[in-house]
Amino acid sequence: MEVLLPPSLQSLLKTLERLPGIGPRSALRIVQALLRRSDLLLQLHQAIGAVVESIYSCPVCGFWVEKEKPCQLCEDPRRTDPVLCIVKEVADVLAIERSQAFNGRYHILGGVLDPLAGVGEKDLRLAELWQRLQRENYEEVIIALGTSPEAETTAYYMARRLADWHGRLTRFASGIPVGSELSYVDPLTLSRSLRERQLLSL
Ligand SMILES: [Zn+2]
Repeated sequence: MEVLLPPSLQSLLKTLERLPGIGPRSALRIVQALLRRSDLLLQLHQAIGAVVESIYSCPVCGFWVEKEKPCQLCEDPRRTDPVLCIVKEVADVLAIERSQAFNGRYHILGGVLDPLAGVGEKDLRLAELWQRLQRENYEEVIIALGTSPEAETTAYYMARRLADWHGRLTRFASGIPVGSELSYVDPLTLSRSLRERQLLSL
């Protein structure tokens, strides 16, 4: 029945439906709410415009940064621990930061290896990571990609690639449920799991 709608609304609906967790019904509900509240519609328009204009990924760590502003993670002088934590996405950084148990730096991979879904080495920020480990001085790399089978495969792939690297290679201790995303784990569990991290051996 959406064909009855003006093309601009159809296009908005189709775009919303492509977002995670939003099906056709939710998309229609969102559009209805936006058209009922013109202030919300305008705010969303402005907020999206500002993001399009000014947000980019830090070329070093992959975190979201505002144009012409320093990266909050890479340029923070208080992050003094010589440890690099490898995570899948920005939400994982935020989850670990909530636990307040980590004072090193991050590298956001942008996903995990998943051949069935067509995600290969080139789709992740792995080349940037190898370069970074040559350029910057770390004593430890923590692989914190979650516990899905794809995350495990990626962790072992990285461990093999880093076999000759001089530092320690670790992972979060148990406590994170199998198959779960890091960003769903509560801060207390995360901080314990981080504190009791284990050497990753092949
Ligand atoms: Zn950065």
